[in-house]
Amino acid sequence: MVFELTKLPYAFDGLEPYIDARTVEIHYTKHHATYLANCNKALEAHPHFFDKSMEWILSNLDQIPEGIRTVVKNNGGGYFNHNLYWENMDLNGAKEPAGSLLSKIDSAFGNLANLKAEIEKTGLGRLGSGYAWLSQKNDGTLIVHATLNQDCPLSDGLKPLLVVDVWEHAYYLKYQNRRAEYLSNWWNIVNWDVVQNRFNK
Ligand code: MN
Repeated sequence: MVFELTKLPYAFDGLEPYIDARTVEIHYTKHHATYLANCNKALEAHPHFFDKSMEWILSNLDQIPEGIRTVVKNNGGGYFNHNLYWENMDLNGAKEPAGSLLSKIDSAFGNLANLKAEIEKTGLGRLGSGYAWLSQKNDGTLIVHATLNQDCPLSDGLKPLLVVDVWEHAYYLKYQNRRAEYLSNWWNIVNWDVVQNRFNK
């Protein structure tokens, strides 16, 4: 079974007014879908990898044949990172973390406001294209970090908890060069229930 486009958890206009419907539509049906198609195409010659999960593939890039490794890293990462991004947004999700996750955030960053500021700063500082993340190390420590292009934290042994896409295609139609405004508005659509579920796993 080839990898399939994950269904969006909301309609194209489901993130309005913070992310406009046209942006979600193009981002999902063109950008995301193209990463998926390119990844499937690269793996066609090695179909046994379709039995693996994308998590496994991105965590074990050294097991991918050298001739397709970069293509799989970029396009498998593009497929998987977008799945995480769409999933951790919802107009109606929990607006704040709670419980064990909140305690962990408080001990790592002082408070939620500091964590948000750190993610915004990291997203703004990502020169060119990439993502800003809240991830967890093997020892349980939380970290905020950026990745370049379609690199995935799994490939660095990190567990991704929360991600924001800072490629221009994620915000340009509505925000143009105002990435900072996109990032500060973005908190209105973060679904902390999903972040909590990833943390609990
Ligand atoms: Mn994107």
